[in-house]
Amino acid sequence: MVVGRYAPSPTGYMHYGNAAAALASWLDVRVRDGKWLLRIEDLDKERCRPEYVEALKEDLLWLGLEWDCSEPLFVQSERNHIYESALKQLEDQGQTYHCFCTRAQLSAIASAPQEGEGGEVGRRYRANPCEHIACSQFFQMQQEGKRSSIRLKLPDIEDEFTDLHFGVQKASLRESIGSDPVLRRSDGMWAYQLAVSVDDALQGVNIVTRGVDLMTSAHVQRYIIRSLGYEVPQYAHIPLLMGLDGMRLAKRNGGNGQYTIRYAREVEHISPGQFIARVLGIMGVILPVVDSLSLDEALDCWGRHAFTCGDAVSIVK
Ligand SMILES: [Zn+2]
Repeated sequence: MVVGRYAPSPTGYMHYGNAAAALASWLDVRVRDGKWLLRIEDLDKERCRPEYVEALKEDLLWLGLEWDCSEPLFVQSERNHIYESALKQLEDQGQTYHCFCTRAQLSAIASAPQEGEGGEVGRRYRANPCEHIACSQFFQMQQEGKRSSIRLKLPDIEDEFTDLHFGVQKASLRESIGSDPVLRRSDGMWAYQLAVSVDDALQGVNIVTRGVDLMTSAHVQRYIIRSLGYEVPQYAHIPLLMGLDGMRLAKRNGGNGQYTIRYAREVEHISPGQFIARVLGIMGVILPVVDSLSLDEALDCWGRHAFTCGDAVSIVK
């Protein structure tokens, strides 16, 4: 059975970009008669708030997007022990190392020009000096009270997969992400790449639908999931919705009032059907644009859809 998920971070009210991801994921799953899960990605304790969890459930239900309740809601902040054991497995397999670099050191490594590159800063992989740290040095650092993050040692291999919406994606695993990903931060917080990979694997998610800004992460997540011995899901990325200023809609930037579902509901007084038609219209999935679309009609479009907007599009209401 197809299993998909919507995995928001409760850091603000849902905006058009979140709605597009939720709707696309729901459609990708329902068009295949699958199961749709909701997962709360609240590892960032400073930014996530319980009231936003309630608000996003309310917004999803307003859109008519009902998640499967036969399983308990996955809440990342309650899953410490699970990430702990996944990390231990990767450590036991020799796939990790402790990194003592500060943020400043890391950005210096990342921006250091490589020979023959003329100073160009790209996505080229930068080796981390801590990868080969000697045991004696490691214990000395620990005794000095220095805290380390734990990183995944990426091998120098190519990764290829077929994205359900964007077709064949091929990249050097290392260059796709630029540096070895952090699995656990030095302050103990679980990093996104580990948590999301473990959760997708354990929830049996086999279609991951989300914004195209996470395409490069898919290569890394595929590697983590394979390393843990689980089946790798299919990925289905969707175009990014941008504000009229050409900036990504990020909830934390604030000032997204007019781009939120709340605004559409309470200020513009539009119906769920009108909102759905708007979101699919922006992505170019429905042509010609219609005023309102039920979820059943959206499912029908989705069966024959193509994004005609490219990989990013500005929202014009
Ligand atoms: Zn380091």
